[in-house]
Amino acid sequence: MSHANTYLHQAAPAIASVIEAGRLAAARGWLPATSGNLSARVDARHVVITRSGRDKGALTPDDLAVVALDQVLPGDLSAEAPLHLARYRADPAIGAILHAHQPLAALAGRRHQDAGVLLLQGWELQKAFAGETTHDSTLRVPVFANAQDTVTLAQQVEAHLAAEPGRLAPGYLLAGHGAYVWGRNGKEAFRHLEALDALLQLQQAWEHTT
Ligand SMILES: [Zn+2]
Repeated sequence: MSHANTYLHQAAPAIASVIEAGRLAAARGWLPATSGNLSARVDARHVVITRSGRDKGALTPDDLAVVALDQVLPGDLSAEAPLHLARYRADPAIGAILHAHQPLAALAGRRHQDAGVLLLQGWELQKAFAGETTHDSTLRVPVFANAQDTVTLAQQVEAHLAAEPGRLAPGYLLAGHGAYVWGRNGKEAFRHLEALDALLQLQQAWEHTT
């Protein structure tokens, strides 16, 4: 039994929140074919995260691992785990991160990859993002090229987010791949994921009619 497993009791609420987020997101078709990965913070130094290849719509606690933010990652974690851990290290307010392969995010990422950003402006639903009080602000959703070297990608993402001007949406897109979305807890992260999907639907329709 690894050192990390001694945290399983403290991790129970985080595990429950990941299981629930997986159930909801899978029901929407955002985690097809065991794709995506989901995580939640346990404490300042630990998170729980889904293991590779598990059905995210029917997770059990065995499908999750507790990892320390500064630990060498266990081998059965998703290759995308470094992108989660880098976000938690960069922002202590983040309590949950949902990485989904929702088709609209993969598509919007490809369409806006050259620009490196998708701008949301004028949509009432922007207020579903924590801290947003008006449809009138311009929210930036950074877009990154997809990459299989996720350690390098995580460094690029964090450097970019730290330097982004203006207001950032609580998420980013990977072109042809999906989205990373976060919140203070699993519920808020799921609300952000749901809002992003609806906003991408609106944005896609808008881009095709104007
Ligand atoms: Zn992915």
